Amino acid sequence: MSTSSQRYSSTRGGSTAFTFEAAVLKGLAADGGLFVPETIPTLPENWESEWRKLSFQELAFQVYRLFIAPSEIPDADLQRLINASYSTFRHSKIAPVVPLIPEKNINLLELFHGPTFAFKDVALQFVGNLFEYFLTRKNKDVKEGEKRHHLTVIGATSGDTGSAAIYGLRGKKDVSVFILHPKGRVSPIQEAQMTTVLDKNVHNIAVEGTFDDCQDIVKTLFSHPTLSVSHNLGAINSINWARILAQIVYYFSSYFALPEGKAPAFVVPTGNFGDILAGYFAHRMGLPTANLTIATNENDILHRFLETGRYEKTAPGATPGVKATYSPAMDILISSNFERLLWILAHETLVDQSLPLSKRHEEASRLLAEWMAKLKTENGVTIPGPLVAEARKTFTSRRVSDPEILETIKEVFLASTTPAQAPYILDPHTAVGVKASLLNVDEGVIPDGTPVISLSTAHPAKFDFAVEKALKGLEAYKGFDEMVRPTEFIGLEDKEKRVRFSKADPEEVREIVLDELTKEGVPV
Ligand SMILES: *Cc1c(COP(=O)(O)O)cnc(C)c1O
Repeated sequence: MSTSSQRYSSTRGGSTAFTFEAAVLKGLAADGGLFVPETIPTLPENWESEWRKLSFQELAFQVYRLFIAPSEIPDADLQRLINASYSTFRHSKIAPVVPLIPEKNINLLELFHGPTFAFKDVALQFVGNLFEYFLTRKNKDVKEGEKRHHLTVIGATSGDTGSAAIYGLRGKKDVSVFILHPKGRVSPIQEAQMTTVLDKNVHNIAVEGTFDDCQDIVKTLFSHPTLSVSHNLGAINSINWARILAQIVYYFSSYFALPEGKAPAFVVPTGNFGDILAGYFAHRMGLPTANLTIATNENDILHRFLETGRYEKTAPGATPGVKATYSPAMDILISSNFERLLWILAHETLVDQSLPLSKRHEEASRLLAEWMAKLKTENGVTIPGPLVAEARKTFTSRRVSDPEILETIKEVFLASTTPAQAPYILDPHTAVGVKASLLNVDEGVIPDGTPVISLSTAHPAKFDFAVEKALKGLEAYKGFDEMVRPTEFIGLEDKEKRVRFSKADPEEVREIVLDELTKEGVPV
């Protein structure tokens, strides 16, 4: 087994040798880069026979241990954190694998059995417990009346991340969470999921504006000269390394759920590239994988990258900006975590391998910083051929359109309404992956007989609009309440809510943050 003294460095080169704790609490490096493990650990020799016997929680322990030094989190504590994190899941297997289209060997990895019914729970339940653990430890010797270490998490959401973050952090000691959402522009269910959480440390702010306005306000607050320093602001967006780490586990658990000995092809509905990056780490650690398919919606920057080698915000001739689709959690212009893959591949394909490790890191970071600057100022950057070729060895990609999303929800529903099978209803994000899986099988992209694991990232009840549009009017469709809505969502929209309102103005939001912290009893 390699490296129990795992350290983290930034993709932009300024910062190296961070501990896991520092990487998690900081989220983003001071130089604007993302934290990456300095080496990718390899699996213990007998992993395949030993790990096969383990529960999801035990597997998580083995995987996390390879990335977190025992001197940072001792075994017993790590075990306790893992057990607490997955005790909130409704399914005993946490992330079960179900056969979806047996004749094509397409299986679904269901990742929506956590408290908010979306895959982000798998990571954010753990991240919330980690924050609390690190802060409690920092506060151990703080005396009565002295200032405690406190983390104020501020984030913007267009829907899914917000509720998963709130459920990850609710009730956690020494942590406050503020989630900004665009007023009236998130689905009623998602709005209710966030605002009906009444814990004292949870604060929702409905902003009169768009998601981009919310994000801009968050950025302004993070660079605010006094707020950011005096309040130790933390981020929980998908750049936090702990989120990637937690997601590695289900690539292993799903591999073990299949008949022994075959390398699966994973298909991942992709937005910010966090989910599939975890699959890449699993692959590089030694998990047998036929390939990894990046399934995008019409916001297809990653698909275009694999096709052309250009990493470009807007395709030539296309309208600039994000396109609103039926799979909103994947509506992105650029994928923040893709930087981590580019860094790793630059490091391995474009840098003189005879240099010492730290020099290679520096050189890769220099390239990365150059590319990211170009992406910002020139709309796009051409990535050198050897790196693109290396990426193509592991990744394939598909772009799935809005009409195809609805068509796939409908086709899968109709195909599964045989007497032998309960009807299966896909959420629109999962449908992007299933469509890509079908195309991969039908076009022979993967060898005959390869099992496909298509990741299911949300429960269909969260995205009623697309589901209803796809299924309404079909004879076998008995309606949303009967066939889709889980009992947990019944009456949710009528429950007591707590939310503050603000104009799209950073100063007004800052005042609300200070006011709410004061009410919570946090010194401001
Ligand atoms: C966040 C999200 C995705 C995209 O995951 P990334 O890690 O950003 O690629 C896909 N589906 C759903 C439902 C999500 O919430």
